[in-house]
Amino acid sequence: MHVIQLEGVSRIYRMTFGDVVALNNVSLSIEEGDFIAIMGPSGSGKSTLLNMIGSLDVPTKGRLYINGTDVSRLSDDQLTDLRRDTIGFIFQQFNLIPLLTVRENVEYPYILKYRKKDTEGRCDELIRQMGLTESLSHHKPNELSGGQQQRVAIARALVNDPKILLCDEPTGNLDSKTGLQVMELLKSLNEQGKTIIMVTHDNHIAEYSKRIITIADGEIQ
Ligand code: ADP
Ligand code: MG
Repeated sequence: MHVIQLEGVSRIYRMTFGDVVALNNVSLSIEEGDFIAIMGPSGSGKSTLLNMIGSLDVPTKGRLYINGTDVSRLSDDQLTDLRRDTIGFIFQQFNLIPLLTVRENVEYPYILKYRKKDTEGRCDELIRQMGLTESLSHHKPNELSGGQQQRVAIARALVNDPKILLCDEPTGNLDSKTGLQVMELLKSLNEQGKTIIMVTHDNHIAEYSKRIITIADGEIQ
């Protein structure tokens, strides 16, 4: 079964000056264990495609299936649950919550899902697995380097053990050496079974994927 399937998906933004077709009739199937790089020029629809796959945004036309479920048939609560259980997001700007410590950032999605604190030490274990030291756990994100912040963001994305990781330019704010370290981390997560869909415009970074999808003017090439 495909973990993700898009059938004729379009996303049209209705603006005062007219319609912007960000995605045009995109069909795409993604299998479990895949590692896909989405490439294309700025404004071509890469983030829109990723947001659609992650149900952060909904198609204007067409259908999106996650684990075989047509997401348009789900209520908002069901969709939130499905997304929370299935998908982890990683962003270029890390998007950590500045007022929370590293540990609290990682624990946050766990608390949202289970309505209790992590008593089994899962968060500490993940922080360790991401190559961060215990002492960093109590720091705020702005006290960390970019590479460290992205590792925290990856730990947070993994805390509820999602099948799929969606990464929007995960190395875009990192120097090339740190970016490659983050890619090694993503590669090992893919080898452990995570399906990864990553947006990048860096050819070197895209080489980590198994399949490259090129998009231009909202259409897959
Ligand atoms: P990329 O990530 O490839 O740079 P995006 O997916 O962000 O491209 O954007 C694709 C197109 O959709 C662009 O023309 C962009 O201006 C437009 N767009 C994206 N998000 C919005 C939005 N929220 N409102 C209006 N237009 C948008
Ligand atoms: Mg983008």
